[in-house]
Amino acid sequence: MKINVATHNRHKLEEIAAIWPEAELNAEDTGAEETAETFAGNALIKARALAALHPGEWTMADDSGLEVEALGGAPGVRSARYAGEPTNTPANNALLLKNLAGVANRRARFTCAIALVAPDGRERVVEGHCPGTISESPSGANGFGYDPLFVPDGHSKSFAELGPEEKNKISHRSRALAAARKLVC
Ligand code: IMP
Repeated sequence: MKINVATHNRHKLEEIAAIWPEAELNAEDTGAEETAETFAGNALIKARALAALHPGEWTMADDSGLEVEALGGAPGVRSARYAGEPTNTPANNALLLKNLAGVANRRARFTCAIALVAPDGRERVVEGHCPGTISESPSGANGFGYDPLFVPDGHSKSFAELGPEEKNKISHRSRALAAARKLVC
């Protein structure tokens, strides 16, 4: 099954390929601007832009990010550009720790919205979540983005310490992909 995927993020693609091995992924980034205020809205913007280039085929796009309870849901849809543009992961992580300095409530969750456009043009959006806490300092070398700071519930290690196999069992992206896969297969 060929699926066009609207992303330029190598890490995301690797996770999608590991979780959905039978999908033949064609990755393209349309450069569509993420102007929506929700993950679902941004996923749809990206999926529609790519589907327009591949009519009659399956197209998928994800939008994801970290929502921190004590920060009113920030960084949220601005996760990639929390510390400004262009995306700077060490700066994003440093800003998150700075904004949480002295804050006891470290509850957070990752969210992933996946928008699918079917060959007949029908659209669907599914979501996956992964709850956890933000640690006091980064640890681990795997993954990307906020992985070194995020400790998923039920674990004592960060996503970056757990590594891809453990992360893919419980991540927001794997949960959203499981739901998306059911709609395609
Ligand atoms: P997007 O490419 O617009 O979906 O931006 C997603 C941003 O959210 C990334 O740049 C990361 O900062 C963050 N993010 C999303 N998923 C993950 C993840 O699995 N681990 C760590 N950070 C993530």
